[in-house]
Amino acid sequence: MSYISLYRKYRPHKFSDVVGQEVVVKILQNSIVENKIGHAYIFSGPRGTGKTSIAKIFAKAVNCLNNKKGDVCGKCDVCNKGQTEEIDIVEIDAASNNGVDEIREIRNNAKLLPSLYKYKVYIIDEVHMLSTSAFNALLKTLEEPPSHVIFILATTEFNKIPITVVSRCQKFDFKKIKTKDIIKRLELILKEENKELDSNIIEFIAKVSDGGLRDAINLLDQVLSLNKEQITLEDVYSLIGYIEDDSIFDLLEQMFVGNITNTLKYLDEYTQSNKNLSFLCGKLIDIVKDIIIYCNTNNYFSKSYEDKLNKFSTIDIDQIIKVSEILLNLQNELRRSSNQKIVFEIYLLRIVLLFNKKEEESPKIESIIEEKEAKKPEIIEKKVEDTPKKEVENNPDNIEKNDDEIKKIRINNAFSGANKELKTKFVDKFDSINDYISQKEYTSLANLLLKSTPEVVSDKNILFTFKKDIDANLFNLNIEEIQKLLKLIYKKKYSIIAITDEEWQDLKKEYINNIKNDVKYEYIEEKVVKKAKNTELQMNMESVFGEELIKEE
Ligand SMILES: [Zn+2]
Repeated sequence: MSYISLYRKYRPHKFSDVVGQEVVVKILQNSIVENKIGHAYIFSGPRGTGKTSIAKIFAKAVNCLNNKKGDVCGKCDVCNKGQTEEIDIVEIDAASNNGVDEIREIRNNAKLLPSLYKYKVYIIDEVHMLSTSAFNALLKTLEEPPSHVIFILATTEFNKIPITVVSRCQKFDFKKIKTKDIIKRLELILKEENKELDSNIIEFIAKVSDGGLRDAINLLDQVLSLNKEQITLEDVYSLIGYIEDDSIFDLLEQMFVGNITNTLKYLDEYTQSNKNLSFLCGKLIDIVKDIIIYCNTNNYFSKSYEDKLNKFSTIDIDQIIKVSEILLNLQNELRRSSNQKIVFEIYLLRIVLLFNKKEEESPKIESIIEEKEAKKPEIIEKKVEDTPKKEVENNPDNIEKNDDEIKKIRINNAFSGANKELKTKFVDKFDSINDYISQKEYTSLANLLLKSTPEVVSDKNILFTFKKDIDANLFNLNIEEIQKLLKLIYKKKYSIIAITDEEWQDLKKEYINNIKNDVKYEYIEEKVVKKAKNTELQMNMESVFGEELIKEE
């Protein structure tokens, strides 16, 4: 008998077996009970959080002949049909079928009635991988969906899906799964498999999987296949290239005293023993986050952990926040890089430089960085000093740079009313911004605005572009103030948004394509998203680390 992976074996087949995602499951079940089923859904969220599993269950549940409170009955012909015999539930992996032909085929087939079921369901996995023409073909179907068809578009990269598609779908956000829920699931699988593992190993697997249940189960699978009598935590460490906390604390200490040689030595050791650098980066971010918490709270952590953090408590908090920002940039770079080690070195050197005050005594530092950057020219210079002021909490109109939905809506709205005459009028007056440079409160905003290009102008919305990523981010973090400044000049309130030149090139292509294909941009109301006011510390940390990381423990 061939081996079935634990992940496939324990994949949930009904809503009641799904781990986490309670909100999503509840809404979907209710929609079935109340017979308010949509024709297009977007399931967006991190990998391994149940998007495809829930899509498959939903596809069965809408068709189940004996539906129980919106969940599958598990007994009828629909529920018992194996995946290979399915005709009316079609799964497509956009990562391997990103062509327009495949989507056209779906379009033609979608018109036909389901062979057996009430609904024909198309699940398109990794939908962001579709080509622009494929998206346009899909859009045609989404505009007038046959009543018997449901599309479920799953994605880990929501920001890559055209707004024209998004606006026609109901969106569900999938959250990372809580560590304690992952532990419960792993324990259940072990029990079913008649296997045993130390609880500290189970806990470790759950934590290291960072909210991805699939990753956790796959790691459990690997660990069990070590086929050892007594599996130890060390076995698991070497399996995944894990680095122990103490070693990472030592590395941090070397960085914070500004010791270049020792910092590089640690990194050499890690790469020589095949340690996992992405993991190391995540861990450094975690510890730096904990240092910030430790410096601002009492008795938040265990005594032994606080003892470790304590040696960093004298470091200036602004410096620590800078460190966290460098590390977050590093994390992004690592995902794209083919030579992780050199990227890692460059970023860690940047941190060391923050703490290395005796520049005249170490003339080599700059040259080391220059030398390394010369080898890796595609790394974008991101000066820490340029980092925008984070004042998100005071300005509800400002958006966080990861707030893709508002960004998409504003871009869409600018396009929906795009008008050349309005643009000319707007640009004509743009130079007046210079008048505000001398006014202290507007100096930095005016300077920033002057670096931008107003690209799309409508009656209510303006889309600005910037050459540099960091300027676009800075702009989006200060939207409310910039809107105020524009109001002074133009005597009216615009909803504004900034993107990079690179993003603009893609958007322009998409726009031209849509116009050619007669796809219209319709104005979308911005929903007022009111965030619960947290303590100031919490908000500060969210702006540095993102909501996900803070909520986790
Ligand atoms: Zn059934």
